[in-house]
Amino acid sequence: MKYISTRGQAPTLNFEDVVLTGLASDGGLYVPETLPKFSAEEIQSWAGLSYQELAFKVMKPFVTETLNDEELKGLIDKSYATFRHDAIAPLVQLGKNEWVLELFQGPTLAFKDFALQFLGNLLDHILKKRDQKVVVMGATSGDTGSAAIEGCRHCENVDIFILHPYQRVSDVQRRQMTTVIENNVYNIALEGNFDDCQNMVKASFADQSFLPDGRQLVAVNSINFARIMAQIVYYFYSALALGAPHREVSYSVPTGNFGDIFAGYLAKQMGLPIKQLIVATNQNDILHRCIANNDHSKQSLVHSLSPSMDIMVSSNFERLLFDLYGRDGAAIKQLMEDFKSGPITLPDDVFAKLKAGFSSYRLDDEETTTVIADVFENTGYLLDPHTAIGVQAARKNNQSPETPMVCLATAHPAKFPEAVNKAVGIANPELPHHMVDLFEREEQYQVLANDISAVQQFMSANIR
Ligand SMILES: *Cc1c(COP(=O)(O)O)cnc(C)c1O
Repeated sequence: MKYISTRGQAPTLNFEDVVLTGLASDGGLYVPETLPKFSAEEIQSWAGLSYQELAFKVMKPFVTETLNDEELKGLIDKSYATFRHDAIAPLVQLGKNEWVLELFQGPTLAFKDFALQFLGNLLDHILKKRDQKVVVMGATSGDTGSAAIEGCRHCENVDIFILHPYQRVSDVQRRQMTTVIENNVYNIALEGNFDDCQNMVKASFADQSFLPDGRQLVAVNSINFARIMAQIVYYFYSALALGAPHREVSYSVPTGNFGDIFAGYLAKQMGLPIKQLIVATNQNDILHRCIANNDHSKQSLVHSLSPSMDIMVSSNFERLLFDLYGRDGAAIKQLMEDFKSGPITLPDDVFAKLKAGFSSYRLDDEETTTVIADVFENTGYLLDPHTAIGVQAARKNNQSPETPMVCLATAHPAKFPEAVNKAVGIANPELPHHMVDLFEREEQYQVLANDISAVQQFMSANIR
């Protein structure tokens, strides 16, 4: 399988190079040149497979040339062995035709473990084969950092540096990162905000001369296509469990950078009978405004009770636009240039395709806590604030009540005690067994000034 850039001017790469590259050299994002397509008979034949067996079937076409069957199987088994539930992604029923897909059974209690456990093992495998070492650098406002650290902590050929805004992430989120004590894991608490962290990472990717000879930076955010690929699997898994391919299934997805729902869109292109894809956002609603009113304009960031969806611009939306524009890289390049200087409006035909493929809904914090309280009262099930947004978006947008609706549960409620406490008055929702002592564990992190040379010096001094 070959991969091409959404802006049409970067070299075509194979899977291995896409994993190590991050952003394409023309500023675009890599996508598969052609998607694998599965027939209904083939999908039917996968009914009853374990999560790991199914992951092998779904991911195999994407990784040819890089991994043979045994290697892929080995990486999948290793990646999902760290999950706490045998089903890996269990479905829980909330109401008639309403389901929650629990994607928080991994080590850091958020769906990002699905992709980052796999990516860590994949990097380790590729780098050992190439006898190469790399540096992972990333910025986090919470979930990505801990999932990336858990994914890379055992990688011999990776040093990982994660920047978080000093005193601006929750205690649970910080401790999930800073209590991982390994000689290749570094947490930097930057005296700035999340944007400062992100800008520093961007500038470091643009000029990597501060790294020791032979090292390069690798991105673990969702611009890395391997992450999207790993997320396609749970759409197939849940749909099969609910009767696909004989029956259609709908999905509601709590959305920030559009990575998770883009995986659902790909699953549909690959042959999975998905009826509706619902984009659920919080007050940071650029995607909802775009889908509802063709208003794709930046607004200032609002800090919400669902912080992992607090974004101004959704990076993976470019991957969808590339398809909606008939894969015209030059048009996307121009569109993204235009977007730098102001809002963009999609042409009628593109907008029509967007509306045909997606519905959307937006919730503020008050509505979010109301949903958590309501669902808890009526079912005894405790939602985290991100998942609650998905559940409500599904209820408001459901065009076909006879079709099973799956709401992706992107995080465990114990990760977001503030919202849960506001909603149902439970002060500290119980952490899963493996994390009950999180607040007693030793922490290790470095507070650094908001100064790029200080950060880069710290990094180059600590790279093994
Ligand atoms: C990252 C995250 C999201 C948003 O996912 P995207 O792929 O960025 O759209 C939603 N919920 C939680 C809990 C997350 O950690």
